[in-house]
Amino acid sequence: MTGADGMRRDVFTDDHEAFRGLVRELVAKEVVPHYGEWEKAGRVPRDFFTTLGSLGLLGMAVPERYGGGGRPDYRYNVVLQEEAAAALVTLGTVRTQLDVVLPYFLAYANEEQRERWFPGLASGRLLTAIAMTEPGTGSDLAGIRTTAVRDGDSYVLNGAKTFITGGLLADLVIVVARTASDPGDRRAGLTLLVVADGMPGFTRGRVLDKMGIKVQDTVELAFDDVRVPVADRLGEEGAAFRYLGHNLPQERMTVAVGSVAQARAALDTTIAYVKEREVFGSPVAAFQNTKFELAAVATEIEAAQALLDRAVLELVDGRLSGADAAKVKLFCTEAQARAVDRCLQLFGGYGYMLEYPIARLYADARITRIYAGTSEVMKVIIAKSLGL
Ligand SMILES: Cc1cc2nc3c(=O)[nH]c(=O)nc-3n(C[C@H](O)[C@H](O)[C@H](O)COP(=O)(O)OP(=O)(O)OC[C@H]3O[C@@H](n4cnc5c(N)ncnc54)[C@H](O)[C@@H]3O)c2cc1C
Repeated sequence: MTGADGMRRDVFTDDHEAFRGLVRELVAKEVVPHYGEWEKAGRVPRDFFTTLGSLGLLGMAVPERYGGGGRPDYRYNVVLQEEAAAALVTLGTVRTQLDVVLPYFLAYANEEQRERWFPGLASGRLLTAIAMTEPGTGSDLAGIRTTAVRDGDSYVLNGAKTFITGGLLADLVIVVARTASDPGDRRAGLTLLVVADGMPGFTRGRVLDKMGIKVQDTVELAFDDVRVPVADRLGEEGAAFRYLGHNLPQERMTVAVGSVAQARAALDTTIAYVKEREVFGSPVAAFQNTKFELAAVATEIEAAQALLDRAVLELVDGRLSGADAAKVKLFCTEAQARAVDRCLQLFGGYGYMLEYPIARLYADARITRIYAGTSEVMKVIIAKSLGL
């Protein structure tokens, strides 16, 4: 116990805590020893997904009749991220699969698709990604230009996507494509198509070289006359914008959960460091500045955690609004940035060296204010809810 554990939380039940024990052991055994290699390779290997699948961790939310656990409870996903962060690792592609992509399949797959895809999703045999962003459009999703033109029993898909997490190994990619244009309503006419690995015309481009979150791949995807069967459309034609509006709040919450957990990990690792490192004959922890900085960081994390926990419970109850999810992402990611920066400062030059986890936490933190919607886009959403 570092003293950074904080106030009592009212989010988890005994079941979640038992799950936490299992995850902690798994992360220590199956992730931590390999993490450096995975970072160098720029990806989490496929067999880690099948390990997670065999332990039932990927299919918790999948109905039992398709090989899942039948327990759709977002708090298990929270535990997974918290335990990874506490061990100073991140599992971005796993998180994307579970928290971001799976909910689309669960909500919009028809019976035939459920039978076809759910067992593979639960077992870790099918890896997934979601492709919204294009070179020409990110924040403005209504500006998507990838087109899908109906031709008999297929759509013919053309376009390019970029920054796609997990795109390198994905067997199934949910692609947001334009099936119709309505000059009066830019949000109309977007459709979700599931593109499978190996479909002719579907290619992966560059694996992008990022400044942080090295363990997850981020790639470009191209679609050149890809024939996607109508049977692989997810949900109704033209309804994608509504589906995104429904699912993006959870994606944003997921980023916030990681932010707070990683800020806490930064605080813990910093507390340990400042007690050990001696400067001017005394530990860095002895300076009043160090105590004040870490006291301020701990307080901000506590505030972020309280907001986040409240929102997690609302999400689990199906009551979290898009604007509230935006507030939580904005606050938690900005708090993370401040916390990690202040912590790194206390490491002096060592904080700038990647062999110290604080340097990686700093680099990893930079993305959370950008992806899943930037801080500015969160403010736009919040302002709209204020009637502005
Ligand atoms: C590592 C990584 C992983 C990602 N993973 C995925 C993924 O798996 N799938 C996917 O589809 N996408 C993914 N993305 C894309 C990500 O969601 C976008 O990068 C993000 O939404 C911002 O879009 P953009 O990069 O096009 O920036 P732009 O939209 O070009 O924004 C540029 C600047 O303009 C600002 N801005 C935009 N609109 C407004 C406004 N109305 N008012 C004020 N300022 C504004 C932005 O805040 C930003 O500061 C990922 C990105 C990264 C970097």
